[in-house]
Amino acid sequence: MADRSLRGMRLGGQSLQSEEGVVFSARANYTYHCENCGRDTDMVFAADAEAPETWECKACGHEATLMVGDKPVEIDRSNEKTPRSHWDMLLERRTRDELEELLEERLQFLRARRGGGKATEKIGA
Ligand SMILES: [Zn+2]
Repeated sequence: MADRSLRGMRLGGQSLQSEEGVVFSARANYTYHCENCGRDTDMVFAADAEAPETWECKACGHEATLMVGDKPVEIDRSNEKTPRSHWDMLLERRTRDELEELLEERLQFLRARRGGGKATEKIGA
């Protein structure tokens, strides 16, 4: 019961109350902002449908981005052309600073193993 009354409410909280005898489907308005011409394209989708993240701009035909509040939605293109590399996954777990630190530690270790940290002086000698 509770589930039914809450269904779809997260998409803006519009009333789902239906008029008697009328099949009413909840709708939600979405705005797509075009970076190319700076105009907004307004679309209406059924509230239980997931709005696409991009839509063709009505003014110029370029790709417009879905707005959430007053910000464009973050488009996840990771499953499109470029699969995540090991490097990307590494960066999700560690910051660049941490990696620099680890690299430095590792280099010092290697230098020490090569003898007294004089590895760089030996190169070219
Ligand atoms: Zn446009």
